[in-house]
Amino acid sequence: TKVTQYIRESKETLFSFEILPPLKGESIQQLFKAIEPLMEFKPKFIDVTYHREEYVYKKRENGLLERQRIRKRPGTVGICAAIMNHFKVDAVPHIICGGFSKEETENALIDLHFLGIDNVLVLRGDAIKSEGTFIPEPDGHAYASELLQQVVNMNKGKYLDEGLQASATDFCIGVAGYPEKHFEAPNLQTDLKYLKLKQDLGADYIVTQMFFDNQKYFDFVSKCREMGITIPIIPGLKPITTQKQLTILPAIFHIDIPDELVKAVESCKTPEQVKQVGIEWAIQQSKELIQFGVPVLHYYSMSKSDAVRQIAEAVF
Ligand code: FAD
Repeated sequence: TKVTQYIRESKETLFSFEILPPLKGESIQQLFKAIEPLMEFKPKFIDVTYHREEYVYKKRENGLLERQRIRKRPGTVGICAAIMNHFKVDAVPHIICGGFSKEETENALIDLHFLGIDNVLVLRGDAIKSEGTFIPEPDGHAYASELLQQVVNMNKGKYLDEGLQASATDFCIGVAGYPEKHFEAPNLQTDLKYLKLKQDLGADYIVTQMFFDNQKYFDFVSKCREMGITIPIIPGLKPITTQKQLTILPAIFHIDIPDELVKAVESCKTPEQVKQVGIEWAIQQSKELIQFGVPVLHYYSMSKSDAVRQIAEAVF
């Protein structure tokens, strides 16, 4: 089922969350154990992130360092199929430009289509950590909008080999939005121009980067609407669970954490207290967003169920 169909058919705010594939070598049972406690709240879909390869340095016998390209969290496509099979819930794989040629993307989308997956979240992907800036593959896409165009083409039966008599796919397409601006964009207006482009090319819905101040989301939604972006905008939320995240999250995701939350976390005496403050903050955010009438509340679970479960218990 398409995410947009769930939204159309529901009068209430829906529940969904995102998980990461396990680190290479870990079992899928661990992941199932993390998902299981959240199934009670009837998520309509579960997103599965995609992780590109990274460079790691291994010491050779002669003492020299050797650089290897390794994907630390493979398995996105397999996990989506396993989740759908095990939990009977829709899985939404993330697909990224980074590390893929157009041909590889086409083949991956064919796999997803054969597996009965109806939704994809289309992203550019992050830069390889040691590279700093995003470098597309020689025959790959530089922007999410280009990858989106490829999916839209396939939805029309138009594959890379235009002479091919191909059957059309039918993916519902999500894209990312940034209430606090994507860090590379010179300003929010320019960022929104490209978000509008994604809608114009055929995106069906938006999922936002995490934010800790609902006002940022409300302002973002009204600016989007002013620009003619009419598709659903699903807020993404992450509960703070450790004190270290006060500095890590802004560094990785280029977002602000409100002073009130920072002070509350800093005044905690134990890690358990920090977690409770983070969960309570996310509950308040969730309740206010439901009142605002958001279509879905989407949680970044980091494949840990405990915090999201406590939030869902209070909210759904
Ligand atoms: P784009 O839409 O391509 O935008 C990137 C930048 O280029 C922006 O500054 C934009 O303003 C600008 N831009 C966009 N289009 C154009 C254009 N046509 N011409 C010029 N400039 C343009 N990363 C992963 O690696 N794996 C994941 O699974 C993953 N999941 C995510 C899920 C969500 C909900 C979000 C919000 C992010 C996720 N990310 C993931 C991170 C994401 O890949 C990064 O934030 C990335 O830097 C940008 O991705 P994008 O799709 O927003 O890029």
